[in-house]
Parts: sequence; C-alpha cells; structure tokens
Amino acid sequence: MKKYLVQPDMKVKLSEWDPNDTSEFKGGKEQGQAEIEKLNHRLEELQELLFAEHRHKVLIVLQAMDTGGKDGAIRHVFEGVNPQGTRVANFKAPTAEELDHDYLWRVHRQVPAKGELVIFNRSHYEDVLVVRVHNLVPREVWETRFDQINEFEEMLAETGTTILKFYLHIDKDEQKERLQARLDDPNKHWKFRLGDLEERKLWSEYMQAYEDVLKKTSTDAAPWFIVPANHKWYRDLVISTILVNTLEGLKMKYPESAENLAGVVIE
Ligand code: ADP
Repeated sequence: MKKYLVQPDMKVKLSEWDPNDTSEFKGGKEQGQAEIEKLNHRLEELQELLFAEHRHKVLIVLQAMDTGGKDGAIRHVFEGVNPQGTRVANFKAPTAEELDHDYLWRVHRQVPAKGELVIFNRSHYEDVLVVRVHNLVPREVWETRFDQINEFEEMLAETGTTILKFYLHIDKDEQKERLQARLDDPNKHWKFRLGDLEERKLWSEYMQAYEDVLKKTSTDAAPWFIVPANHKWYRDLVISTILVNTLEGLKMKYPESAENLAGVVIE
C-alpha cells in the first residue's frame, strides 16, 4: 500500500492518480470484502489492545469531496470496534463561538486521549480547502495555515499520537453517479443538498486546493494517503490494511497487573 503514500514535499497532480485503481488486490470485489472482514477482526483486537494498554493515541483524518465515501468508510472499516475507546468527530461549518477562536481550537479539543482511537470526519483541513475555495479568509491568512497545521500535528505526534490521513479520491463522473443515486432514491434525499451542486461547479478549484494540501502537509509525523475510492470495497480495503499495519507496528502489549496474582484463589 506504499504506493498510496504521499512523500513529504511530493508534487501531486490528482489527475494522474487513478481513482479506479484496484491493483494492490487482484482478487476482485468478493474476495476483497472477505479480506476486509478479516481485517475488521484484527482491528477489533488491536483496538482492545490500544484501550487496555492506555499508552498510544490514534488519530485518523478523513477528507473527500462530497459523496467521496467518508461515511461509508467509517461504517465498514470500523465495524466491530468497541464504541468504548473509539469516537467519530464531525467538523461542520464553524459555529459563532468556534469562529471567535483560532481555527485549531475546536480541533484540539477532539484529539484522542491515551488509549483512544478518534476518526475525524472532515477536519482542520477544511480551513485550507472550503475556506480557500470560497475566499472565507484572505490568501495571506490561509497560506500561513499549512505550517501551523504541520507544527500542530508534529506536536501531537511527539506527545504520543499516531496520525494517519486519508484523502478518498473519486472523480467527477463518479460523483455525478452518486449524486444522481441520491436524487433517485427517496430514502437518500436526506443526504442530498442543492448546495452540493454549487460545490460541484468548483471541482477544479477544490482539486487544486487538495493538491496543495497533499504536497505541503504530508509529513513523517502525519502522512497523507491518496485512496482510490471509485470502488468502495477497494477504498475500505486500502484504509483497513494501512490502519491494521500501522497499529501492528506499535507493538502494543496488554499491561501486567500491578498486583501479584500468582496463587490467587477465588472462593
Ligand atoms: P458531510 O458532507 O461531511 O457529511 P455536511 O453535509 O453537514 O457533512 O457538510 C459539512 C459542511 O461543513 C461541508 O460543506 C464543509 O465544507 C463545511 N465545513 C467544515 N469545516 C468548515 C470550516 N472550517 N469552514 C467552513 N465550512 C466548513
């Protein structure tokens, strides 16, 4: 899965990244789904270990265009993990109170504590994406944020947080199909906003903003992965694999009891 990792300072042209790619798993959709199930079980064990050991903190950042599949990825990748010790933080348009603070204020409050796994469904990256595309603050302001974000994430990493950032990469045609599917199914109307069509018109501006994000904020402390996401099963498989491999790499252990349990008899 290394091929999806964005190396620090690597120039990214998203048009050269194939959103239909499934090349790292030859088995196709059905076998892929079976593989995801296996990874789900492994993730369940690893998350229990994370919680029990109470040492590491894990932060997963999900970013995507509308319909990119953040919600689906959360449902499928984290199926089975214990809600105790796992949390999803959603970042919507900031409230008046949030706007009165610096943009990282609301983000910092949501970062994982020891033993916790937190998924950011959108994140502080909105402050250099939607904010940039819609000119919500002047260029001089959002431009300084890349360094600030890198420093913030570096501080989190230095204080025990493992950070993985995933950009779910779909193309404009796939978005059209997904939007149309929402429009066609009354049970999906709740997900459809007319505003999504306005955002869609800004596709190339968003791509440019994402390219900058990926180039400037993929660091050793907090790497970005570009996940081919036109095929949902492959998207989930890539995220699960990277996450499980990363957690395995932490070499976590169940803590030993502070008391001497040898010879204890329960009457
Ligand atoms: P989602 O699309 O993630 O399922 P919503 O449909 O509620 O959730 O969209 C959340 C909206 O909040 C998005 O349009 C996003 O761009 C916007 N948003 C998030 N963070 C910010 C921010 N810092 N400034 C402005 N808008 C933001």
